[in-house]
Amino acid sequence: MAKIPLITIVGIPNTGKSTLFNRLIGQRKALVHSEPGMTRDIYKKTFEINNKEFYLQDSGGFYPDKHIITEEINKRIFREVKKSDLVIFLFDGKRELLGFEKDLFIEIKKINPAIIPVINKVDNPPKYILPNSYYELKQDFLFISAEHNDEVETLIDAIEKHFEHYIGTPDKASSIQTRISIIGKPNVGKSSIINKILNDDFVIVSPLAGTTRDSVDLEVKRMNKTFVLVDNAGIRKMQKVKEGTESAAVIRAEKDIQYADIIIFVVDISKRLDQNDMLIAQKLLKAAKPVIIACNKWDLVEDKERGEFLLKETRKKLNSFYFAPFILISALTGKNIFHLLDRAEEIHNKLNVKMKTSHLNRILPSILQERKILTEANRVFKSKYVSIESLKPFFIQFFANTGEILKPSSELYLKKRIVEELGLEGIPVFFKISAKKERNEKQISYEKLPKAPLHRQRKKKN
Ligand code: GDP
Repeated sequence: MAKIPLITIVGIPNTGKSTLFNRLIGQRKALVHSEPGMTRDIYKKTFEINNKEFYLQDSGGFYPDKHIITEEINKRIFREVKKSDLVIFLFDGKRELLGFEKDLFIEIKKINPAIIPVINKVDNPPKYILPNSYYELKQDFLFISAEHNDEVETLIDAIEKHFEHYIGTPDKASSIQTRISIIGKPNVGKSSIINKILNDDFVIVSPLAGTTRDSVDLEVKRMNKTFVLVDNAGIRKMQKVKEGTESAAVIRAEKDIQYADIIIFVVDISKRLDQNDMLIAQKLLKAAKPVIIACNKWDLVEDKERGEFLLKETRKKLNSFYFAPFILISALTGKNIFHLLDRAEEIHNKLNVKMKTSHLNRILPSILQERKILTEANRVFKSKYVSIESLKPFFIQFFANTGEILKPSSELYLKKRIVEELGLEGIPVFFKISAKKERNEKQISYEKLPKAPLHRQRKKKN
Protein backbone atom coordinates (compact mmCIF):
# COMPACT_ATOMS: atom_id res chain seq x y z
CA MET A 1 0.00 0.00 0.00
CA ALA A 2 1.35 3.42 -0.93
CA LYS A 3 1.96 5.66 2.00
CA ILE A 4 -0.61 8.37 2.54
CA PRO A 5 1.18 11.74 2.45
CA LEU A 6 1.10 13.95 5.49
CA ILE A 7 0.50 17.66 5.06
CA THR A 8 0.94 20.04 7.97
CA ILE A 9 -0.44 23.55 8.17
CA VAL A 10 1.92 25.83 10.03
CA GLY A 11 1.62 29.47 10.93
CA ILE A 12 1.64 31.67 13.96
CA PRO A 13 -1.65 32.02 15.88
CA ASN A 14 -4.53 33.76 14.14
CA THR A 15 -3.38 33.30 10.59
CA GLY A 16 -6.45 31.16 9.89
CA LYS A 17 -5.03 27.65 10.19
CA SER A 18 -8.15 25.99 11.51
CA THR A 19 -10.34 27.77 8.97
CA LEU A 20 -8.13 26.44 6.20
CA PHE A 21 -7.99 23.04 7.85
CA ASN A 22 -11.76 22.82 7.99
CA ARG A 23 -12.05 24.18 4.49
CA LEU A 24 -9.75 21.50 3.10
CA ILE A 25 -11.37 18.61 4.89
CA GLY A 26 -14.71 19.97 3.74
CA GLN A 27 -16.33 20.52 7.02
CA ARG A 28 -18.03 23.61 8.13
CA LYS A 29 -17.97 23.16 11.84
CA ALA A 30 -14.77 23.91 13.64
CA LEU A 31 -13.55 20.55 14.75
CA VAL A 32 -10.75 22.11 16.61
CA HIS A 33 -10.75 23.85 19.89
CA SER A 34 -7.74 25.23 21.58
CA GLU A 35 -8.23 23.30 24.73
CA PRO A 36 -5.30 22.58 26.92
CA GLY A 37 -4.40 18.96 27.05
CA MET A 38 -5.96 17.97 23.76
CA THR A 39 -3.86 15.49 21.94
CA ARG A 40 -2.48 16.39 18.59
CA ASP A 41 -4.14 13.39 16.94
CA ILE A 42 -7.41 15.19 17.07
CA TYR A 43 -6.10 17.60 14.49
CA LYS A 44 -5.12 14.98 11.99
CA LYS A 45 -7.78 14.12 9.45
CA THR A 46 -7.90 12.57 6.05
CA PHE A 47 -9.11 14.46 3.04
CA GLU A 48 -9.15 13.72 -0.65
CA ILE A 49 -8.11 15.34 -3.84
CA ASN A 50 -9.43 13.58 -6.91
CA ASN A 51 -9.85 10.31 -5.08
CA LYS A 52 -6.39 10.35 -3.55
CA GLU A 53 -6.15 10.41 0.17
CA PHE A 54 -4.02 12.77 2.24
CA TYR A 55 -3.52 13.34 5.92
CA LEU A 56 -3.89 16.90 7.02
CA GLN A 57 -2.82 18.24 10.35
CA ASP A 58 -3.24 21.65 11.83
CA SER A 59 -0.36 22.85 13.90
CA GLY A 60 -2.82 25.22 15.54
CA GLY A 61 -3.55 22.27 17.69
CA PHE A 62 -0.09 22.43 19.14
CA TYR A 63 -0.75 25.66 20.92
CA PRO A 64 -2.24 24.98 24.30
CA ASP A 65 -3.05 28.64 24.47
CA LYS A 66 -3.86 30.40 21.25
CA HIS A 67 -1.60 33.33 21.92
CA ILE A 68 1.45 31.80 23.46
CA ILE A 69 4.24 30.19 21.54
CA THR A 70 6.79 28.56 23.72
CA GLU A 71 9.97 26.84 22.82
CA GLU A 72 8.31 23.57 23.71
CA ILE A 73 5.63 24.19 21.13
CA ASN A 74 8.16 25.16 18.51
CA LYS A 75 9.99 21.92 19.14
CA ARG A 76 6.80 19.98 18.57
CA ILE A 77 6.09 21.88 15.41
CA PHE A 78 9.61 21.24 14.11
CA ARG A 79 9.20 17.55 14.85
CA GLU A 80 5.94 17.36 12.92
CA VAL A 81 7.36 19.41 10.07
CA LYS A 82 10.23 16.97 9.75
CA LYS A 83 7.78 14.08 9.44
CA SER A 84 5.58 15.88 6.92
CA ASP A 85 5.63 15.38 3.19
CA LEU A 86 4.46 18.92 2.63
CA VAL A 87 4.09 22.02 4.74
CA ILE A 88 1.60 24.77 4.11
CA PHE A 89 2.89 27.88 5.79
CA LEU A 90 0.16 30.39 6.41
CA PHE A 91 0.61 34.15 6.73
CA ASP A 92 -1.96 36.76 7.53
CA GLY A 93 -2.18 39.01 4.47
CA LYS A 94 -4.01 41.70 6.36
CA ARG A 95 -0.85 42.80 8.09
CA GLU A 96 2.89 43.05 7.66
CA LEU A 97 5.19 40.11 8.23
CA LEU A 98 6.28 39.86 11.85
CA GLY A 99 9.88 39.40 12.88
CA PHE A 100 9.49 36.12 14.71
CA GLU A 101 7.15 34.90 11.99
CA LYS A 102 9.88 35.43 9.45
CA ASP A 103 12.35 33.53 11.64
CA LEU A 104 9.88 30.68 12.08
CA PHE A 105 9.37 30.44 8.33
CA ILE A 106 13.10 30.38 7.58
CA GLU A 107 13.69 27.78 10.28
CA ILE A 108 10.92 25.58 9.01
CA LYS A 109 12.03 25.84 5.43
CA LYS A 110 15.44 24.61 6.52
CA ILE A 111 13.93 21.59 8.20
CA ASN A 112 11.61 20.83 5.34
CA PRO A 113 12.00 22.55 1.99
CA ALA A 114 8.72 21.08 0.71
CA ILE A 115 6.74 24.13 1.66
CA ILE A 116 3.99 26.16 0.07
CA PRO A 117 3.89 29.71 1.41
CA VAL A 118 0.32 30.95 1.47
CA ILE A 119 -0.96 34.42 2.23
CA ASN A 120 -4.38 34.06 3.77
CA LYS A 121 -7.21 36.52 4.41
CA VAL A 122 -6.87 37.98 0.93
CA ASP A 123 -10.33 39.16 0.11
CA ASN A 124 -9.82 39.95 -3.54
CA PRO A 125 -6.78 38.05 -4.86
CA PRO A 126 -6.40 39.73 -8.27
CA LYS A 127 -6.35 43.18 -6.69
CA TYR A 128 -4.33 42.36 -3.66
CA ILE A 129 -1.22 44.35 -2.84
CA LEU A 130 1.32 42.41 -0.83
CA PRO A 131 2.73 44.33 2.15
CA ASN A 132 6.36 45.21 1.56
CA SER A 133 7.81 43.20 4.38
CA TYR A 134 6.89 39.94 2.64
CA TYR A 135 9.27 40.61 -0.22
CA GLU A 136 12.16 39.91 2.12
CA LEU A 137 11.24 36.26 2.04
CA LYS A 138 11.60 36.03 -1.74
CA GLN A 139 8.84 33.50 -2.16
CA ASP A 140 6.19 32.72 -4.72
CA PHE A 141 3.20 33.11 -2.50
CA LEU A 142 -0.28 31.82 -3.13
CA PHE A 143 -3.04 34.23 -2.19
CA ILE A 144 -6.22 32.83 -0.73
CA SER A 145 -9.11 33.53 1.54
CA ALA A 146 -9.86 30.39 3.51
CA GLU A 147 -12.90 31.99 5.02
CA HIS A 148 -14.44 33.14 1.77
CA ASN A 149 -13.19 30.11 -0.12
CA ASP A 150 -11.37 32.29 -2.61
CA GLU A 151 -8.55 30.63 -4.54
CA VAL A 152 -8.50 27.65 -2.18
CA GLU A 153 -8.81 25.59 -5.34
CA THR A 154 -5.50 27.01 -6.51
CA LEU A 155 -3.93 25.77 -3.33
CA ILE A 156 -5.51 22.37 -3.83
CA ASP A 157 -4.10 22.31 -7.36
CA ALA A 158 -0.67 23.17 -5.99
CA ILE A 159 -0.90 20.33 -3.47
CA GLU A 160 -1.96 17.95 -6.20
CA LYS A 161 0.93 19.07 -8.38
CA HIS A 162 3.38 18.62 -5.56
CA PHE A 163 2.24 15.01 -5.22
CA GLU A 164 1.89 14.31 -8.93
CA HIS A 165 3.69 10.99 -8.58
CA TYR A 166 1.48 9.82 -5.76
CA ILE A 167 -1.11 7.52 -7.24
CA GLY A 168 -3.19 7.08 -4.14
CA THR A 169 -3.58 4.04 -2.00
CA PRO A 170 -4.58 1.02 -4.06
CA ASP A 171 -7.10 -0.31 -1.60
CA LYS A 172 -8.68 3.08 -1.12
CA ALA A 173 -11.89 1.89 -2.72
CA SER A 174 -12.45 -0.45 0.12
CA SER A 175 -10.94 1.71 2.80
CA ILE A 176 -13.49 4.45 2.43
CA GLN A 177 -16.64 3.25 3.97
CA THR A 178 -20.07 4.59 3.69
CA ARG A 179 -21.92 4.59 6.96
CA ILE A 180 -25.56 3.95 6.27
CA SER A 181 -28.39 4.26 8.72
CA ILE A 182 -31.70 2.69 7.88
CA ILE A 183 -34.38 4.77 9.50
CA GLY A 184 -38.14 4.50 9.65
CA LYS A 185 -40.99 3.93 12.02
CA PRO A 186 -41.68 0.38 13.25
CA ASN A 187 -42.96 -2.19 10.75
CA VAL A 188 -42.00 -0.42 7.57
CA GLY A 189 -39.52 -3.22 6.90
CA LYS A 190 -36.14 -2.01 8.16
CA SER A 191 -35.08 -5.34 9.61
CA SER A 192 -36.34 -7.17 6.58
CA ILE A 193 -34.09 -5.01 4.42
CA ILE A 194 -31.08 -5.68 6.63
CA ASN A 195 -31.79 -9.39 6.71
CA LYS A 196 -32.15 -9.45 2.97
CA ILE A 197 -28.77 -7.80 2.64
CA LEU A 198 -27.12 -10.15 5.08
CA ASN A 199 -28.68 -13.28 3.63
CA ASP A 200 -27.75 -12.55 0.08
CA ASP A 201 -24.35 -12.30 -1.43
CA PHE A 202 -23.05 -9.84 1.09
CA VAL A 203 -20.45 -10.93 3.53
CA ILE A 204 -20.38 -9.57 7.00
CA VAL A 205 -16.80 -8.64 7.43
CA SER A 206 -16.95 -7.79 11.03
CA PRO A 207 -19.18 -6.45 13.65
CA LEU A 208 -17.61 -3.18 14.67
CA ALA A 209 -17.80 -1.55 18.00
CA GLY A 210 -20.85 0.61 17.70
CA THR A 211 -20.85 4.31 17.92
CA THR A 212 -23.31 4.09 20.75
CA ARG A 213 -23.16 1.64 23.54
CA ASP A 214 -26.33 -0.08 22.51
CA SER A 215 -25.51 -0.64 18.89
CA VAL A 216 -23.20 -2.83 16.90
CA ASP A 217 -22.26 -1.66 13.45
CA LEU A 218 -21.96 -4.15 10.65
CA GLU A 219 -19.28 -3.89 8.08
CA VAL A 220 -20.49 -5.58 4.94
CA LYS A 221 -18.66 -6.17 1.76
CA ARG A 222 -20.09 -6.64 -1.68
CA MET A 223 -17.80 -6.99 -4.62
CA ASN A 224 -15.18 -4.33 -4.01
CA LYS A 225 -17.25 -2.10 -1.84
CA THR A 226 -17.48 -1.86 1.88
CA PHE A 227 -20.47 -0.48 3.67
CA VAL A 228 -21.08 0.01 7.31
CA LEU A 229 -24.63 -0.46 8.41
CA VAL A 230 -25.17 1.50 11.53
CA ASP A 231 -27.01 -1.28 13.22
CA ASN A 232 -29.38 0.54 15.44
CA ALA A 233 -30.69 -1.36 18.38
CA GLY A 234 -33.65 -3.34 17.24
CA ILE A 235 -32.90 -3.13 13.58
CA ARG A 236 -31.20 -6.44 13.13
CA LYS A 237 -33.85 -8.68 14.47
CA MET A 238 -32.07 -11.96 14.39
CA GLN A 239 -34.00 -12.15 17.53
CA LYS A 240 -36.77 -9.70 17.27
CA VAL A 241 -36.02 -6.91 19.66
CA LYS A 242 -39.05 -4.98 20.62
CA GLU A 243 -38.91 -1.46 19.41
CA GLY A 244 -41.30 -0.42 22.11
CA THR A 245 -43.94 2.09 21.28
CA GLU A 246 -43.95 3.86 17.97
CA SER A 247 -43.15 7.18 19.56
CA ALA A 248 -40.16 5.73 21.39
CA ALA A 249 -38.85 4.54 18.06
CA VAL A 250 -39.37 7.96 16.55
CA ILE A 251 -37.42 9.58 19.35
CA ARG A 252 -34.61 7.10 18.96
CA ALA A 253 -34.34 7.74 15.24
CA GLU A 254 -32.64 11.00 16.04
CA LYS A 255 -29.72 9.25 17.61
CA ASP A 256 -29.43 6.78 14.77
CA ILE A 257 -29.36 9.56 12.22
CA GLN A 258 -26.45 11.38 13.68
CA TYR A 259 -23.84 8.69 13.18
CA ALA A 260 -24.47 8.03 9.53
CA ASP A 261 -23.05 9.50 6.35
CA ILE A 262 -26.27 8.82 4.58
CA ILE A 263 -29.76 7.84 5.61
CA ILE A 264 -32.06 5.38 3.95
CA PHE A 265 -35.49 6.54 5.00
CA VAL A 266 -37.88 3.62 4.73
CA VAL A 267 -41.59 4.15 4.27
CA ASP A 268 -44.34 1.64 3.59
CA ILE A 269 -45.61 2.57 0.14
CA SER A 270 -48.66 0.32 0.47
CA LYS A 271 -50.08 2.65 3.11
CA ARG A 272 -50.51 6.35 3.48
CA LEU A 273 -47.80 8.13 5.40
CA ASP A 274 -48.85 9.01 8.90
CA GLN A 275 -47.78 11.37 11.61
CA ASN A 276 -44.88 9.21 12.75
CA ASP A 277 -43.42 9.06 9.26
CA MET A 278 -43.64 12.82 9.14
CA LEU A 279 -42.01 13.25 12.53
CA ILE A 280 -39.06 11.19 11.40
CA ALA A 281 -38.99 13.11 8.14
CA GLN A 282 -38.66 16.33 10.07
CA LYS A 283 -35.78 14.99 12.11
CA LEU A 284 -34.05 13.92 8.93
CA LEU A 285 -34.34 17.34 7.39
CA LYS A 286 -32.92 18.88 10.50
CA ALA A 287 -29.95 16.56 10.45
CA ALA A 288 -28.96 17.94 7.04
CA LYS A 289 -27.63 14.58 5.87
CA PRO A 290 -27.94 12.94 2.47
CA VAL A 291 -31.12 10.89 2.17
CA ILE A 292 -32.55 8.20 -0.06
CA ILE A 293 -36.21 7.42 0.31
CA ALA A 294 -36.92 3.71 0.07
CA CYS A 295 -40.54 3.00 -0.71
CA ASN A 296 -40.81 -0.53 0.62
CA LYS A 297 -43.46 -3.25 0.19
CA TRP A 298 -43.90 -2.36 -3.48
CA ASP A 299 -44.87 -6.01 -4.01
CA LEU A 300 -48.10 -5.33 -2.14
CA VAL A 301 -49.16 -2.72 -4.63
CA GLU A 302 -51.27 -4.65 -7.06
CA ASP A 303 -52.02 -2.45 -9.97
CA LYS A 304 -49.88 0.11 -11.66
CA GLU A 305 -52.36 2.89 -11.48
CA ARG A 306 -52.73 2.57 -7.75
CA GLY A 307 -48.94 2.40 -7.44
CA GLU A 308 -48.52 5.61 -9.34
CA PHE A 309 -51.10 7.27 -7.20
CA LEU A 310 -49.42 6.13 -3.97
CA LEU A 311 -46.01 7.23 -5.15
CA LYS A 312 -47.35 10.61 -6.16
CA GLU A 313 -49.00 11.06 -2.76
CA THR A 314 -45.82 10.04 -0.98
CA ARG A 315 -43.72 12.46 -3.01
CA LYS A 316 -46.20 15.21 -2.33
CA LYS A 317 -46.08 14.66 1.40
CA LEU A 318 -42.32 14.48 1.37
CA ASN A 319 -41.83 17.43 -0.96
CA SER A 320 -39.25 18.95 1.38
CA PHE A 321 -37.01 16.12 0.21
CA TYR A 322 -36.64 17.86 -3.15
CA PHE A 323 -33.12 16.43 -3.37
CA ALA A 324 -33.77 12.80 -2.54
CA PRO A 325 -34.20 9.90 -4.94
CA PHE A 326 -37.32 7.83 -4.31
CA ILE A 327 -36.61 4.16 -4.90
CA LEU A 328 -39.28 1.49 -5.07
CA ILE A 329 -38.14 -1.60 -3.24
CA SER A 330 -39.36 -4.84 -1.77
CA ALA A 331 -37.52 -6.45 1.08
CA LEU A 332 -39.68 -9.53 0.45
CA THR A 333 -38.71 -10.10 -3.16
CA GLY A 334 -35.36 -8.30 -2.98
CA LYS A 335 -36.33 -5.81 -5.65
CA ASN A 336 -33.84 -2.92 -5.81
CA ILE A 337 -32.20 -3.70 -2.46
CA PHE A 338 -28.67 -3.71 -3.90
CA HIS A 339 -29.46 -0.72 -5.98
CA LEU A 340 -30.26 1.07 -2.74
CA LEU A 341 -26.81 0.47 -1.31
CA ASP A 342 -25.07 1.31 -4.55
CA ARG A 343 -26.91 4.59 -4.69
CA ALA A 344 -25.98 5.33 -1.08
CA GLU A 345 -22.34 4.81 -1.87
CA GLU A 346 -22.49 6.84 -5.02
CA ILE A 347 -24.06 9.77 -3.19
CA HIS A 348 -21.59 9.60 -0.36
CA ASN A 349 -18.68 9.55 -2.78
CA LYS A 350 -19.87 12.72 -4.42
CA LEU A 351 -19.13 14.53 -1.19
CA ASN A 352 -15.60 13.22 -1.12
CA VAL A 353 -14.37 14.73 -4.32
CA LYS A 354 -13.29 18.21 -5.01
CA MET A 355 -16.14 20.34 -6.21
CA LYS A 356 -15.50 23.33 -8.37
CA THR A 357 -16.86 26.64 -7.25
CA SER A 358 -16.20 27.89 -10.75
CA HIS A 359 -18.66 25.36 -12.17
CA LEU A 360 -21.33 26.57 -9.79
CA ASN A 361 -20.63 30.16 -10.78
CA ARG A 362 -20.97 29.22 -14.42
CA ILE A 363 -24.36 27.59 -14.13
CA LEU A 364 -25.94 29.95 -11.63
CA PRO A 365 -26.61 32.97 -13.86
CA SER A 366 -28.67 30.88 -16.26
CA ILE A 367 -30.65 29.28 -13.43
CA LEU A 368 -31.39 32.72 -12.05
CA GLN A 369 -32.69 33.72 -15.46
CA GLU A 370 -35.14 30.86 -15.73
CA ARG A 371 -37.53 32.55 -13.40
CA LYS A 372 -37.62 35.35 -10.88
CA ILE A 373 -36.18 34.30 -7.57
CA LEU A 374 -37.78 36.43 -4.88
CA THR A 375 -36.80 37.23 -1.34
CA GLU A 376 -39.29 37.24 1.50
CA ALA A 377 -39.68 40.97 1.00
CA ASN A 378 -40.48 40.37 -2.69
CA ARG A 379 -37.20 41.74 -3.93
CA VAL A 380 -35.65 40.08 -6.96
CA PHE A 381 -32.66 38.11 -5.78
CA LYS A 382 -29.45 38.71 -7.67
CA SER A 383 -26.29 36.88 -6.85
CA LYS A 384 -22.92 38.21 -7.86
CA TYR A 385 -20.83 35.35 -6.71
CA VAL A 386 -21.28 32.00 -5.02
CA SER A 387 -18.88 29.82 -3.17
CA ILE A 388 -19.08 26.38 -1.67
CA GLU A 389 -18.79 26.99 2.01
CA SER A 390 -18.79 23.40 3.17
CA LEU A 391 -19.54 19.95 1.84
CA LYS A 392 -20.97 18.31 4.91
CA PRO A 393 -23.52 19.79 5.11
CA PHE A 394 -23.51 21.19 1.61
CA PHE A 395 -23.59 24.91 2.19
CA ILE A 396 -23.58 27.41 -0.63
CA GLN A 397 -22.78 30.96 0.14
CA PHE A 398 -24.24 33.68 -2.03
CA PHE A 399 -22.82 37.15 -2.19
CA ALA A 400 -25.92 38.91 -3.33
CA ASN A 401 -27.75 42.17 -3.67
CA THR A 402 -29.56 41.44 -0.45
CA GLY A 403 -28.99 39.50 2.73
CA GLU A 404 -32.65 38.56 3.03
CA ILE A 405 -33.81 34.98 3.00
CA LEU A 406 -35.73 33.74 0.01
CA LYS A 407 -39.39 33.06 -0.44
CA PRO A 408 -40.00 29.36 0.28
CA SER A 409 -41.17 28.60 -3.26
CA SER A 410 -38.20 30.44 -4.79
CA GLU A 411 -35.79 28.77 -2.44
CA LEU A 412 -37.16 25.34 -3.23
CA TYR A 413 -36.92 25.99 -6.96
CA LEU A 414 -33.36 27.26 -6.74
CA LYS A 415 -32.25 24.35 -4.60
CA LYS A 416 -33.90 21.81 -6.88
CA ARG A 417 -32.19 23.28 -9.92
CA ILE A 418 -28.80 23.39 -8.24
CA VAL A 419 -29.15 19.75 -7.23
CA GLU A 420 -30.06 18.88 -10.82
CA GLU A 421 -27.32 20.89 -12.43
CA LEU A 422 -24.57 19.76 -10.10
CA GLY A 423 -25.74 16.14 -10.11
CA LEU A 424 -26.21 16.24 -6.36
CA GLU A 425 -29.21 13.97 -6.13
CA GLY A 426 -29.49 12.74 -2.55
CA ILE A 427 -27.76 15.72 -1.03
CA PRO A 428 -29.62 18.55 0.67
CA VAL A 429 -28.40 22.02 -0.15
CA PHE A 430 -28.27 24.90 2.28
CA PHE A 431 -27.91 28.57 1.58
CA LYS A 432 -26.10 31.33 3.27
CA ILE A 433 -26.83 34.71 1.79
CA SER A 434 -24.76 37.78 2.40
CA ALA A 435 -25.23 41.20 0.97
CA LYS A 436 -22.03 42.14 -0.75
CA LYS A 437 -20.44 45.45 -0.04
CA GLU A 438 -18.96 47.41 -2.88
CA ARG A 439 -15.26 46.89 -2.99
CA ASN A 440 -12.89 49.73 -2.77
CA GLU A 441 -10.01 48.82 -4.98
CA LYS A 442 -7.37 50.17 -2.69
CA GLN A 443 -8.68 49.35 0.65
CA ILE A 444 -9.68 45.79 1.09
CA SER A 445 -12.12 45.36 3.84
CA TYR A 446 -13.48 42.23 5.30
CA GLU A 447 -17.05 41.62 5.64
CA LYS A 448 -17.85 39.90 8.87
CA LEU A 449 -20.29 37.24 7.87
CA PRO A 450 -23.09 36.38 10.20
CA LYS A 451 -23.07 32.78 11.27
CA ALA A 452 -25.76 31.04 9.32
CA PRO A 453 -27.79 28.47 11.14
CA LEU A 454 -26.97 24.97 10.06
CA HIS A 455 -30.29 24.79 8.35
CA ARG A 456 -33.31 26.90 8.24
CA GLN A 457 -36.42 24.98 9.12
CA ARG A 458 -39.81 26.28 8.33
CA LYS A 459 -42.80 24.87 10.08
CA LYS A 460 -44.65 22.85 7.52
CA LYS A 461 -48.34 22.21 7.57
CA ASN A 462 -49.20 18.76 6.43
P1 GDP B 1 -39.24 -2.94 10.97
O1 GDP B 1 -40.01 -2.80 12.21
O2 GDP B 1 -39.23 -1.65 10.22
O3 GDP B 1 -37.91 -3.50 11.14
O4 GDP B 1 -40.11 -3.89 10.02
P2 GDP B 1 -39.94 -5.47 9.76
O5 GDP B 1 -38.78 -5.72 8.90
O6 GDP B 1 -40.02 -6.20 11.04
O7 GDP B 1 -41.21 -5.73 8.87
C1 GDP B 1 -42.51 -5.56 9.37
C2 GDP B 1 -43.43 -6.51 8.64
O8 GDP B 1 -43.51 -6.14 7.26
C3 GDP B 1 -42.98 -7.94 8.69
O9 GDP B 1 -44.13 -8.76 8.84
C4 GDP B 1 -42.34 -8.16 7.32
O10 GDP B 1 -42.42 -9.50 6.90
C5 GDP B 1 -43.16 -7.26 6.44
N1 GDP B 1 -42.40 -6.78 5.28
C6 GDP B 1 -41.21 -6.14 5.29
N2 GDP B 1 -40.83 -5.80 4.04
C7 GDP B 1 -41.78 -6.23 3.20
C8 GDP B 1 -41.98 -6.19 1.77
O11 GDP B 1 -41.18 -5.68 1.00
N3 GDP B 1 -43.13 -6.75 1.29
C9 GDP B 1 -44.04 -7.33 2.10
N4 GDP B 1 -45.10 -7.82 1.52
N5 GDP B 1 -43.89 -7.38 3.42
C10 GDP B 1 -42.80 -6.87 4.00
